[in-house]
Amino acid sequence: MIQNILHKLFLSCNQATLRMERDTANQLSTLQKIRLKSHLALCKNCKTYHKKVLIMDAQLQKVNLSQNQSTQTELEALKQKVKKSILEKN
Ligand SMILES: [Zn+2]
Repeated sequence: MIQNILHKLFLSCNQATLRMERDTANQLSTLQKIRLKSHLALCKNCKTYHKKVLIMDAQLQKVNLSQNQSTQTELEALKQKVKKSILEKN
């Protein structure tokens, strides 16, 4: 009963999960965010799923950051190598 009202007034669970993904990519309008938050306030399953999405997103960003940092280190090492070889030739 509550689920039916929830889906008619706000979003279905399928729409909510899709919007959670878009929300982590900052692709939601203010109205879409309000509808998602309203759904999450009333739907336990989606609320639990949303927490997991946020944890996974944070973990992925950490991995992404550490990969970027190692790429920066490799890039610096390569720059130094090129610089050294140019200096040795002159
Ligand atoms: Zn739901």
